[in-house]
Amino acid sequence: MSKREQHSIHVGVSACLLGRKVRFDARHEKHPFISDVMARHVKLVPVCPEVELGMSVPREKVKLEGAVDAPRMIGMETGCDWTRRMVNYARERVRRRDLAGVCGCILKTKSPSCGIVHVKLYDASGRVKRAATGLFAAALMNHNPLLPVEDEHVLDDVTTRDNFIVRLFAYRRLRGFLAGRCTRSRLSVFHAAHTSLLLSHSPKYCRMLDELAGSSGAVSARKLCDRYAVLFMEALRFKSTAAKNAGVLRRFLRLLRGHLSAPEERDIVWAIDAYRTGDAPLLMPLTLIKHSVDKYEIARAAEQVYLNPHPAELMLRFHA
Ligand code: SF4
Repeated sequence: MSKREQHSIHVGVSACLLGRKVRFDARHEKHPFISDVMARHVKLVPVCPEVELGMSVPREKVKLEGAVDAPRMIGMETGCDWTRRMVNYARERVRRRDLAGVCGCILKTKSPSCGIVHVKLYDASGRVKRAATGLFAAALMNHNPLLPVEDEHVLDDVTTRDNFIVRLFAYRRLRGFLAGRCTRSRLSVFHAAHTSLLLSHSPKYCRMLDELAGSSGAVSARKLCDRYAVLFMEALRFKSTAAKNAGVLRRFLRLLRGHLSAPEERDIVWAIDAYRTGDAPLLMPLTLIKHSVDKYEIARAAEQVYLNPHPAELMLRFHA
């Protein structure tokens, strides 16, 4: 593995979304943002559970039927029951090295294998409700409940896409943190670096995480870190808004006061207001603040992940 690959972020993707003709009808569902943009900045790990299981292309369409919590996968023409084979394969597949190393997954919506929510579920009389999770998606999410997993529609809206990209990179940092020794002091450093990011998503969760990271009770450090990890990923599911981001940017401005020249301060204030009213992208005040933080060596601000995203995160979030 090259050095570049070691440092790149890996994202699992339903193979049909990458343009591979693996669907039951031998077609693909190529998604332009994934194959044209994401592919340039992250390493995509394709997976097609149905084809990998040995189903042919083209093949009989399958459906889910039965109970929401234990649906069966059945061939729509022959009634062939694929449930046991798919469940066993999916459990083993999600543990394999290529998928075990991903920082998130984008799966095909509505698929009886890959769909994460609202997959059609048939009852005994043939009635349909959108209630199930595809068998592969369920295995993936059960195996790793913290992993950011979404369907491709999340990429079609700028806000939900931004939120997913932030979570991909946050999960990567969290996993790196959890792979080391879990001590209260390491947790405190990790949390301190993420305060601004957390505030830009959920001030309420940020306060809860403040308390957790600072607690000195009888709970072991390992348990504390595990609890922190769950709340941390939950916090980032809240959408970041212009108002929340403007609040975070003003906190940086307060740290910079006393160092900035009058024109520098005026430019930053103007950029924050322009961003808050939708007249400028977030990148504008962010860049001005980052420049001043570096120039005046404001250590408390410089440690914030919010100001120092991974280069690939920057490229994906602010992709034109
Ligand atoms: S939705 Fe999943 S199982 Fe179906 S073709 Fe795409 S990758 Fe394969």
